[in-house]
This record gives sequence, C-alpha cells and structure tokens, in this order.
Amino acid sequence: MSAPRFRTGTFKRREKRVPGGRRVVHYSKKKPSKHVCAKCGKVLDAVPRGRPYEIRKLSKNQRRPNRPYGGMYCTNCTKQLLKEEARSLWLLLSVDSQVLEHQQQQKIYQNIWIFHIFRREMYSGN
Ligand SMILES: [Zn+2]
Repeated sequence: MSAPRFRTGTFKRREKRVPGGRRVVHYSKKKPSKHVCAKCGKVLDAVPRGRPYEIRKLSKNQRRPNRPYGGMYCTNCTKQLLKEEARSLWLLLSVDSQVLEHQQQQKIYQNIWIFHIFRREMYSGN
C-alpha cells in the first residue's frame, strides 16, 4: 500500500523492476502543460516544458527563442505585432516631424530599433 500522499492524482506513477526482481512503483510530480501563444493559443516551439527546477538548470538560450516577444507570442503573432508597432511609430513620427528639429528626429530614428525593422520591410516591398 502506498503512502497516503501518493493516493491522489497529483503524482505520476512509474513501474520499475528492481535488481531483486521485485516490481515497485515510483512516483514523480507531473510535468506542466505546454506553453502557448498569449494571443492565438498556438503551442509554442522551442520552449521546453518541465518542473521549475529542471527549467532553471537550462541556459537562457535554451529556455525561449532569442527574439522580441520570444516565448510569449508565436512567430505569426510576433510578425504582425512588430508591423503594427512600426507603423504606429511611423505615424507618430510623421505627425511630429514639423515640431521636432531635424537633428532631434534623426536621433530618434537611430535609437529606435523598431524603425529599422520598418525600413527593412518598406524596402523589401511587403
Ligand atoms: Zn500566436
């Protein structure tokens, strides 16, 4: 008979054969569910699932994709989001361009990485 704490659905059972030939049941905590996109609910690739102590042992690179919103949104949603962000920024800058001085404006362009993505997109013709 197993200990009372193991008689619930919380634990996963595994049958093992010990060297003496006896069969014993090993209990382990269940794995958490797969990570999904926060926007569309699609299962995320390259985001490992496991108990927190297992995830903590991995390097940061192995925990999530190395890009903006990696491990939060799927690739399609990220692409859409970046486009939206870049376009709204473009709108903002074009409205304020008369107010800002030229040097000031150039500084903003250089510092905001999203602008570079937008520019790349603009020239690629998407
Ligand atoms: Zn998504």
